[in-house]
Amino acid sequence: MKNSPPFDIKDFTRSELAVICKEQKAPAFHAGQIFEWIYKKGVTDFREMSNIPKTLASYLEDKYYFSLLKTLKREKSKDLTEKFLFGLSDGSAIETVLIPEERRRTLCVSSQAGCKFACSFCASGADGFIRNLSTSEIVNQFLSVNGLLEEKVTNVVFMGVGEPLDNFENVLKAVDILRDEKGINLGKRKVVVSTCGIVPAIRRLTELHLGIRLSVSLHSADDGKRLRLMSVNKLYNTASLIRALKEYVSKEGFPVTFEYVLIKGFNTNPDDARKLSMFVRGVPYKLNLIPYNANPFFEWQTPSKREIQEFTGILREKKVFYTLRRRRGDDISAACGMLRFRAV
Ligand code: SF4
Repeated sequence: MKNSPPFDIKDFTRSELAVICKEQKAPAFHAGQIFEWIYKKGVTDFREMSNIPKTLASYLEDKYYFSLLKTLKREKSKDLTEKFLFGLSDGSAIETVLIPEERRRTLCVSSQAGCKFACSFCASGADGFIRNLSTSEIVNQFLSVNGLLEEKVTNVVFMGVGEPLDNFENVLKAVDILRDEKGINLGKRKVVVSTCGIVPAIRRLTELHLGIRLSVSLHSADDGKRLRLMSVNKLYNTASLIRALKEYVSKEGFPVTFEYVLIKGFNTNPDDARKLSMFVRGVPYKLNLIPYNANPFFEWQTPSKREIQEFTGILREKKVFYTLRRRRGDDISAACGMLRFRAV
């Protein structure tokens, strides 16, 4: 009986496939053709790739397989946000969220099964960490959801379960495939990677200079408060975070986005607004304010409209520009901080 091939073809970027082609004495340009067959034409059989040499197709067939995610559940919110629960080959499950808007459809993908960081407002880290997702498991979230849609996904944000920069190599390879013109071809600016603020990883990204849009979960510019929300602040405080971000932004030449979840009576005081205005000074930024989604897992509460108005009033006085985001998908636990890595 023939053994099943050992490698998942969607774990490889086009430049890695070019190396494989060369090793097989085939020209590197076949990598682009293979990419087009997989990502543009949805072909899952190397023998159908009519413009690559038969010897290369037969080699690939022996060594590489095409993975798929199993859709375990699909739920739709009143506001049309959709949440997908996908089963992985080892029995874990991950969640992916589709956020349709007037002119774009954004897919929020997971990068890990579970999360090590256990932020105190986020359900994704509450059950601990299982493992990193492979590149193909990330790319397959896109392919699975996009394949179901008439109006295709336009943007991808790495804001699902997991800390993307803690799965650095696989996430970067997935970003490469999502942006590759011969691959999914989303375009450079349409893929956003979020982080809780892992400073050495931000520095590595600065060195690599890949033009990746970064979104940083800030949630407080006060070290004591941020530490209560996010254990990562113990390793990398707000001063080291903003230093690394300034270097990143000055190298890349586009702003960083800050996410700030507004929590009732905790990070919405006048002093918090003032500290936030000091924090963003001197760095090109976008600031998203998101009212917290109260849920049974955590003590935190949703702020009142008045509390939000007072907080944003001070930001306006300080000439801090922001967008107040409306919550999406909270009736199906698809909103910010509500995703888990298994069905509950
Ligand atoms: S906010 Fe991000 S880093 Fe923090 S626990 Fe949730 S998924 Fe992990």
